[in-house]
Amino acid sequence: MSAAPASHPLPSYLQANNLGPWGVYLQQVDRVTPYLGNLSRWVETLKRPKRALIVDVPIHLDNGTVAHFEGYRVQHNVSRGPGKGGVRFHQDVTLSEVMALSAWMSIKNAAVNVPYGGAKGGIRVDPKTLSRGELERMTRRYTSEIGIIIGPNKDIPAPDVNTDEQIMAWMMDTYSMNQGSTATGVVTGKPVDLGGSLGRREATGRGVFTVGAEAAKHIGMDISTARVAVQGFGNVGGIAGKLFAEAGARVVAVQDHAGTIFREAGLDVPSLLRHVAHTGSVAGFAQAEAIANDLFWEVDCDILIPAALEQQINGSNAGRIKARMVIEGANGPTTPEADDILHDRNVLVLPDVIANAGGVTVSYFEWVQDFSSFFWDEAEINARLVRIMREAFAGIWQVAQDNKVSLRTATFIVACKRILHTRELRGLYP
Ligand code: GLU
Repeated sequence: MSAAPASHPLPSYLQANNLGPWGVYLQQVDRVTPYLGNLSRWVETLKRPKRALIVDVPIHLDNGTVAHFEGYRVQHNVSRGPGKGGVRFHQDVTLSEVMALSAWMSIKNAAVNVPYGGAKGGIRVDPKTLSRGELERMTRRYTSEIGIIIGPNKDIPAPDVNTDEQIMAWMMDTYSMNQGSTATGVVTGKPVDLGGSLGRREATGRGVFTVGAEAAKHIGMDISTARVAVQGFGNVGGIAGKLFAEAGARVVAVQDHAGTIFREAGLDVPSLLRHVAHTGSVAGFAQAEAIANDLFWEVDCDILIPAALEQQINGSNAGRIKARMVIEGANGPTTPEADDILHDRNVLVLPDVIANAGGVTVSYFEWVQDFSSFFWDEAEINARLVRIMREAFAGIWQVAQDNKVSLRTATFIVACKRILHTRELRGLYP
């Protein structure tokens, strides 16, 4: 990555040798900068988060002791509107990761042209180690701590890895209690009975499927006979797998945190989803063969959907991938090194910043519905989602063709131009 000009030294927290996911993001920005024309003079804006809040989250554990958790909320950019992005509970959460995830939200929100900036939050914790009471106390204390920078017009959290509708309900309630009145619009991904939107839970997976189906048309791939491998079978991978199977595709392999399963003839996806709902993972699913985790990457398939965590496709496995198309359901699953390997091997990568934008698109619908207190039916939500995703993807495909760049760089071109254009229009304060 390029250093900032000497007159603008990098802030100290960005100078570490290994920048982790944030370093990956910076490389992606460097790749797009030559395509930004005059707007590139504002590019430094994208290379540092606007605001990062680190909070201490102390709670009483059930055993009477006190535990402290590391919490974050980062607002990467708010030029186009309030910050928007999920909250992740995971034992590997770091500031670098949350910074990168917040930046990818800025890109994603601009790519689908919803009126938001980018933000993300997280707590460094394995929520499986907490009781329900501990989880609630941690969520509420975290929400209260970040309450100074979130709000329906400031920054709107949503679910991400290991957070769900119940967590959003507690966040909404905590924020509302502190404000003195109910503010449903402070988070999205809430339960439908609490101002949530129909179709939100399935939206990310539906977007993954929609973009995948559009790209398949471009490369002459027949979805109804395609073999699909999915990593992560939760909200994103599970729904995407289900929609591909409904379209006739064979889901031949699935990997999650507990193991990898394979079935040449195609897995029975509805029954696998029930198994995951009961046991918490795909491991032990009777109607499949268990295979070694590393073999997942070389499974014979046409479409590979990483829908778990970052940096899963890297220098060590990118050369073995057999798929013709990778659809990034997760955020940041492919390292820049792997991106190049896949590009050289003619594997089409549909990048996270467009492929998984369906979630935040329906989050936007939820926020609009909350403000107007008027709720739409599911058919309308899905139709609007599909339309936005198709139009955004068509524009990005064209930019990729015109500039002979990858879809990731094309998405960054579209998004960075939108962000930096508003940056220029608004000007610098004071
Ligand atoms: N966490 C999801 C994402 O990474 C959704 C964010 C949102 O709905 O605000 O896109």
